Amino acid sequence: MHLLNADLHCHSRYSDGTLTPTALAERASRNGVALWALTDHDETRGLAEAAAAATALGMGFLSGVEISVTFAGETVHIVGLGFDAADAELAQGLARTRGGRTARAHEMAEGLARVGLPGAYEGALRYVSNPDLMSRTHFARWLVDTGVCADTGSVFRRYLTEGKPGYVTHRWAALGDAVRWITQAGGLAVIAHPGRYKFSVNEEFALFSEFKAHGGRGVEVLTGSHSAADTLKYGAMAQEFGLLASRGSDFHSPGESRIDLGRLPDLAGTLQPVWQALAHRVQRTAVASLT
Ligand code: AMP
Ligand code: MN
Ligand code: MN
Ligand code: MN
Repeated sequence: MHLLNADLHCHSRYSDGTLTPTALAERASRNGVALWALTDHDETRGLAEAAAAATALGMGFLSGVEISVTFAGETVHIVGLGFDAADAELAQGLARTRGGRTARAHEMAEGLARVGLPGAYEGALRYVSNPDLMSRTHFARWLVDTGVCADTGSVFRRYLTEGKPGYVTHRWAALGDAVRWITQAGGLAVIAHPGRYKFSVNEEFALFSEFKAHGGRGVEVLTGSHSAADTLKYGAMAQEFGLLASRGSDFHSPGESRIDLGRLPDLAGTLQPVWQALAHRVQRTAVASLT
């Protein structure tokens, strides 16, 4: 069952992806995905459409979300899978987490204006389809389309990462709150793309230990931004910490994402897949075997 083509991390227009949930479901299905989750940033509004589209295509579906968290002064992302999207505490927590984004976007635009890039707020807003969810990605797309940078990667390097003119320090949710919102809504919490954080060995150990102590259950071993070395390292850490292993492309857009939906390597047979613990939460028409 570690060979199941599961893709449990991607983004739609309800956050910083460019496709609708339906278009994502069709793309995932075309690429052979058998179990899919939509995980928009701090937002669950796309899940009903995603579930309907997945079910119509005969593809297993899990509710998903990617919660922005501040841990040890860094932004960490926690993916929630298989929760009840109608849960009130989760909904309130996500609303609070989204809440600071508009003010942050104005501050980002002020920073960019100071280095000769006026009008960034209005520019980025043209790429936003969910007004509650203005993200750095929308600024990046505007800066690419106006010819300031050649691609989104260089926008982040020049303008949108710590110490750069468009970067604004922001306080997101607490780790324990995010894990609790997901867990008490019946879901399973997963550390997203651990290879992307700039933590020391001690900070990383603290993240994994505290995540586990709060009831976190899984870690992404396979994700679009991991190197082969990252995959090995976080596979070993999953085993060391007794965490389930997840697999997700983190697909955002056909033109931008390096890894397409469902196009990741297989999970190593020595790891326990996260979907083993989620079989009872999968929404599907015909129940095929996941175990
Ligand atoms: P935000 O939640 O507004 O801080 O935006 C974070 C999003 O920016 C991530 O989910 C990615 O989609 C995107 N992102 C972050 N770093 C990079 C990067 N170096 N290159 C391209 N996209 C990035
Ligand atoms: Mn994103
Ligand atoms: Mn992320
Ligand atoms: Mn993501």
